[in-house]
Amino acid sequence: MASAAEELDAVVVGAGFSGLYMLHKLQEKGLSVKVFEAGAEIGGTWYWNKYPGARCDVESMDYSYSFDPELEQEWDWTEKYPSQPEILSYLQHVADRYDLRKDVVLRTRVTQASFDESTSRWTVRTDQGHEVSAKYCIMATGCLSKPKFPEVPGLDTFSGPWYHTGLWPDSAVDFSGQRVGVIGTGSSGIQVIPFVADQAADLTVFQRTPNYVLSSFNGPIDQDRVAATKANYRQAREAARQSIFGIAVDMPTKSALEVSDEERREVYQKGWERGHLNAIIQAYTDLIFNEESNETAAEFIREQVRAKVTDPATAAKLEPRGYPYGTKRPCLDTRYYETFNRESVHLVDLREEALIEITETGVRTTAGEYAFDTLVIATGFDAMTGALLGIDITGKGGVSLSKKWQDGPDTYLGLALSGFPNLFMITGPGSPSVLSNMVVSIEQHVEWISDLIDHMTANGHSVVEAEATAEKEWTDHVRAVGDMTLFPKADSYYVGANVPGKARVLMPYVGGVGGYRQRCDEVASAGYAGFAMR
Ligand code: FAD
Repeated sequence: MASAAEELDAVVVGAGFSGLYMLHKLQEKGLSVKVFEAGAEIGGTWYWNKYPGARCDVESMDYSYSFDPELEQEWDWTEKYPSQPEILSYLQHVADRYDLRKDVVLRTRVTQASFDESTSRWTVRTDQGHEVSAKYCIMATGCLSKPKFPEVPGLDTFSGPWYHTGLWPDSAVDFSGQRVGVIGTGSSGIQVIPFVADQAADLTVFQRTPNYVLSSFNGPIDQDRVAATKANYRQAREAARQSIFGIAVDMPTKSALEVSDEERREVYQKGWERGHLNAIIQAYTDLIFNEESNETAAEFIREQVRAKVTDPATAAKLEPRGYPYGTKRPCLDTRYYETFNRESVHLVDLREEALIEITETGVRTTAGEYAFDTLVIATGFDAMTGALLGIDITGKGGVSLSKKWQDGPDTYLGLALSGFPNLFMITGPGSPSVLSNMVVSIEQHVEWISDLIDHMTANGHSVVEAEATAEKEWTDHVRAVGDMTLFPKADSYYVGANVPGKARVLMPYVGGVGGYRQRCDEVASAGYAGFAMR
């Protein structure tokens, strides 16, 4: 354990992709840094989400660090879409390769961070009794790291074992011969369900909102693609940085409504067969802006559901309706729809019978009781703000972050907060974050923060703070751009709708990774416009 009030240059909270790269950059500067990580191992998302089927749905070659050309050349991915164990071993390799572990304190949750105006330093406390004083406090706490539980009572009364996908145990879970209930059909539910079905004697899936699920066509990585990408990695990375979602795709030039039905079908079919998260949503210019255009893609996906699911009543329940395609996190699957053709798998539509409670023996809905041996909770996360608000953060004048954000998260560039000097967020609300290939966004934020620290050192500054006017202008811009799209129309975690009582605000910036990066670069080139330094 650290001695009381150990003095550091920087504290980083979280040791996933964000915290590890931030640590590397700070170590390179020769700064004294400590990373506190609640988990028992580094890796963040890819440590916690060990459920069977956990996988990234950005291609391996794109979902990786670009900061060291040697690293990207030496690492070999085995599949088109990397599995959780493979990403975790990649991050473990990174931690060892750059000697990061020496500054990471595992199994330690930061509980409190407060800014002391007399010293202009952050005091950070943990649940293990650490108290450190740091000039910079960098939140690398993750957008999808605070698990969310079902809104109904009773989970604590269930007599069998239950597993939240985001808190999966280290040892393998065996569902053989069991009656299993899965609650939730978001990205994690869609990934875990086929694997639970492989083992369970009987599986019941409780679905509140059917998802638009594209086939991943995952498999061993195409070695020609590896060779081509490795030969041109710099260009590929740059294209990703300038793209909309952090993944380089050919940009559309037409509206979905200006082509014939046949042409559109062919385009969607090709997109479908590509097995790529953005192949359909970026097929036309207006799918995310115009409901009529969006409906053409939505209906195409519903057709695929009807073709895959043999029982028409089950297919009808699985068909995504009631919100535009792409406005909730889209998913890629491995045998998801086909799983519902198994006799042992049943679907409960919670729009027809509402969930009432979890009982000692199972789940009760308005239509009756379901008995289970084991439950899998796949209800996702309190996204983007959950982990940050899980820490008691107080800035100038003793103002807490929870008070500042009571009507939604106001930030400057999703990176900084007025009233909270020298505190930075990596992929905070108001940045592209969860709407992007997150590694691209993470690297951009880490490098931007790192450059700002260099700028301060070079200019003899010790305190930097976002100006309230800059924060307001940026937040207004984030909301205005969001309102031009269909995103606010869905009850998604993007707008906080999955958490009762959470302010309904579109949290990620939908203006695109490339445009956002340009804005951040302009702010930096203008001497960090919108920031006050002393
Ligand atoms: P995380 O990996 O979430 O790490 C944050 C860490 O901070 C966690 O380990 C947490 O324990 C720690 N922490 C939080 N609060 C505290 C505290 N108070 N004290 C100490 N430690 C704390 N992104 C994509 O781009 N493409 C994908 O296909 C994709 N798939 C995903 C699939 C799943 C199942 C999940 C959950 C997420 C997925 N993501 C995906 C998002 C993923 O979170 C990011 O890509 C990336 O891993 C985020 O890295 P991070 O370091 O910012 O956050």
